[in-house]
Formats: sequence, structure tokens, C-alpha cells
Amino acid sequence: MTTFVWDYLPEYERERDDILDAVETVFRSGRLVLGESVRGFETEFAAYHGVPHCVGVDNGTNAIKLGLQALGVGPGDEVITVANTAAPTVVAIDAVGAKPVFVDVRPGDYLMDTGQVAAAITGRTRCLLPVHLYGQSVEMAPLRELAAAHGLAILEDCAQAHGARHHGALVGSMGDAAAFSFYPTKVLGAYGDGGATVTGLDEVERNLRRLRYYGMAERYYVVETPGHNSRLDEVQAEILRRKLTRLDRYVADRRAVARRYAEGLGDTELVLPATAEGNDHVYYLYVVRHPRRDAIIEALKAHGIALNISYPWPVHTMTGFAHLGYRNGALPVTEALAGEIFSLPMYPALAPSVQDKVIGALREVLATC
Ligand SMILES: *Cc1c(COP(=O)(O)O)cnc(C)c1O
Repeated sequence: MTTFVWDYLPEYERERDDILDAVETVFRSGRLVLGESVRGFETEFAAYHGVPHCVGVDNGTNAIKLGLQALGVGPGDEVITVANTAAPTVVAIDAVGAKPVFVDVRPGDYLMDTGQVAAAITGRTRCLLPVHLYGQSVEMAPLRELAAAHGLAILEDCAQAHGARHHGALVGSMGDAAAFSFYPTKVLGAYGDGGATVTGLDEVERNLRRLRYYGMAERYYVVETPGHNSRLDEVQAEILRRKLTRLDRYVADRRAVARRYAEGLGDTELVLPATAEGNDHVYYLYVVRHPRRDAIIEALKAHGIALNISYPWPVHTMTGFAHLGYRNGALPVTEALAGEIFSLPMYPALAPSVQDKVIGALREVLATC
């Protein structure tokens, strides 16, 4: 049996009755699209964050895309973000016609280097888009100061950090709006695709509701500004409502997995994840670093362990973004990381015995690689 970085089946075994009951509840409700479950999830997810509004959408990419549009970001505008992220962060910026502008990340925790943002601001900058990468928050105070000084919006990409805190505040509650993905691997994952954008701004909420529903105000069949069809599915919403009540437990289980890695690998040459000051890490991914990464991953295959790299290609070096004009060498920390990082198995239901197999195999491989 191969061990993978992620596997949802152990969780499904534990939660099967509740998940199937969620499906049955929706199928019996008489309303399959934008019904009680989406409304209930929106209310509960907003309340969890202490933010007034949540609008459920079809995936995390569109949560960012609609979030940007709802904040008034469009063609010709510049959005400052990072290239050490999942490509969809940048795909969403491109999709609204805006230009992604990249700053580098910090060598210790791989998060946006907020000290580089001021120099990246131009007359066309409209929005700052921090990515709370791998499960912990970007440093928000400097971004908020810059946003206030330059009249910029802040959209948080929270796709990897559900439940993470920064100086006590939940990610998603620190910007003008925040986008979440409920892709199955995420800290709060659906059994299929899903996403949501939360905001404290009434006008942004109204824009989001229109944008996900063709551009119509929901009760009237009139397009006000052409939008999209980006609704959160009713079945996924009902599953997410149930799983939201267990989010804090999933996070606690992920932290226990992280502690076991730290105990088992702390004395090796692997660079283990560093938690930035003021952060409570939720360990969406457990990302380690080693200069001979490729040889280690190859050798682990013989032990039946298949690992992932998040992310092997920084977004600014991808052919699809060649038009942005970035050269190799433009973001030295991001580029160096991409050649050395890899992710160890991480999910709440990861069995300690499986984790110990990974730790044992890694120790053996590190001794010879
Ligand atoms: C997963 C992810 C997304 C996209 O979410 P989807 O639901 O897959 O569209 C966006 N940003 C980051 C940082 C992600 O990890």
C-alpha cells in the first residue's frame, strides 16, 4: 500500500453516517440549488469568523475572482501577491483582467515578504492579495498600513488556512474581503468543489451575491451587471455545515501530527516548518526543506511513500504567465525554495502508525542520500 500526502478515506470511514445524512437531508428538502443548506452554511461560516457576511461560491478560484470584482478590481488594475502559491491565486487575478505583481517571500516561513510591498505599489495598484500559505497568516499590520495610506483594498487568500489565527484574529477577518476554498484536501474540505467569500462590507456582499448569480439580484430576473454562474452546491453546503462544527478538532489533530513530525525529525538535517511570530499554524501542508530534495523523494518511493511538492514551479516562471515579463532570478527566495521544498503526509485522520513509517523511512533515506 502506497502512502500518499493526503487521503480522505480514513475521514470518510469515521464520518460516513453524518456525510450520507447530509446528502439525504438535501435530497429530501425539495430545494436543490441555493436552499436552506447554503443559507445556513453562509450564516454559520460568517459567525465562525465574526464577520457580517459570507457568500458561498463554486470553488476557491472563483471566490478570489468574484472577491476581486466585488471590490471593484478590473482591467488595468494591479494586484500585489506572491509567486510561491497555488496557481489559482494568480489565475483568478488574470481572469478579472487585472495584472498580478509579485513580491518575494521570506526565507524562514515562506510567507509574503511584506517589507517589499511598498516598492511594488504604483498608480495602478488597487488591491493587496496576501496568501496565508501552508496554514499560517501573512503579517497583516504592515499591509493594513499600506492599504490605508494608498487607498487599496485587501483580499485575503485563506484557501490554505481555515481556522488559523494571527495575534488572536482569525484569517478571513483581517481584510476587506477573504476568499476560501473547500476543495477536498483543504483544512475545511467538501466532498467535491466549493468556495466562499466573506466580507464585512455590505456593498461588497451585494456585489458578490449578484456576481455569483448571472449578475442578477436574486429575486428579480434582471441582470444588473453581467456576472457568472458560481453558486455553492446545496449538497456540499450541507456537508460543510456539519464539518464546520468539527473544524477546531481537525486543526487540533493536524497540530498533533505536526508535533509528532517535530519529535521524530527535529534532530535531522531537514528544515522543518517555522511558525511566524503571533501565528497559530493549522498545518494545511507540512512543508520541509532539503537541498537534495529530488533524491530523497525518489528514494522514498522504494519505501512505498509518494510525496508532493507545493510548489515545484513558481507561478512567475510558468509559460502561461510569460506575458507578465518576469525573468528567472526576479524572485530569488521563491525560486530557491521551489527546488528544495516538499510536503510530508498531513491530514487529521493520519494514523500514528503510518506517520511513524514515514518518519522511519525518511531517517533511513536521509542517512544515505
Ligand atoms: C486551493 C487553492 C486555491 C483554489 O481553490 P479551488 O477551490 O481549487 O479553486 C486558491 N488559492 C490557494 C492558495 C489554494 O491553495
